[in-house]
Amino acid sequence: MKKKLIIAIDGPSGAGKSTLSKALAKRFDYLNIDTGAMYRSVALLAQRGGIDPDDEDALKKLCSDLSIKFIRGPESEQVIVNGADVSAEIRTPEVSLWTAQVAACQAVREAMVKLQREMGEGGGVVLEGRDIGTVVFPYADVKFFLLASAAERGRRRYEELREKGAVVDLEQTIVEVEARDAADMERTHAPLTQAEDAIVIDSTYLTIDDVLERMASVVRRKVAQLSD
Ligand code: C5P
Repeated sequence: MKKKLIIAIDGPSGAGKSTLSKALAKRFDYLNIDTGAMYRSVALLAQRGGIDPDDEDALKKLCSDLSIKFIRGPESEQVIVNGADVSAEIRTPEVSLWTAQVAACQAVREAMVKLQREMGEGGGVVLEGRDIGTVVFPYADVKFFLLASAAERGRRRYEELREKGAVVDLEQTIVEVEARDAADMERTHAPLTQAEDAIVIDSTYLTIDDVLERMASVVRRKVAQLSD
């Protein structure tokens, strides 16, 4: 029988994780779990509820009442939080900045990791985030760590925001990407680090298709190796 794998994709923002995890999930008919969207959802609700991102008790309470679901759409997953589709609202630059703060809270991380394990433990999933291969699923079947230079990641984020009609500045976007990297790498709980056994792909000079083909061939080999 074909084994349904747990695939982890980690890396800094703008390294191509979202695009590639969606594409890889589609290729193998797996569910794509965007764990950044989960932290973003907590940040959105905290912001709406006037909760201070440093108020651990209030954030813990918010997470205990939270329902997050990913529903497969024709192109990508929809993020449903407490019954409402928040897929677009969680992507604003303001929510991005709040998210890095909220994601540093231990109680939030514990709640999200628990949900992610429940969603992914049966396999047939591609999870993308910062700590998937190190904390959430240290025994993932395949681990990728995607990289790209900060300038290239800033440029990609800028194009993405512009395509959505946002008025953005390239230099400012690069500065924000670097600030978020620093926050994600320097936090005490589950900082962004590369798992020792992760396959590292630097996409600075590669196309999405190049990276996708490399990843898909690793996954195919692993499926063949683990299936009986
Ligand atoms: O991947 P994305 O840019 O949507 O993630 C938003 C933020 O969520 C990151 O900057 C990081 O602070 C947080 N995050 C995290 N752990 C994950 C996924 C995202 O801390 N597994």
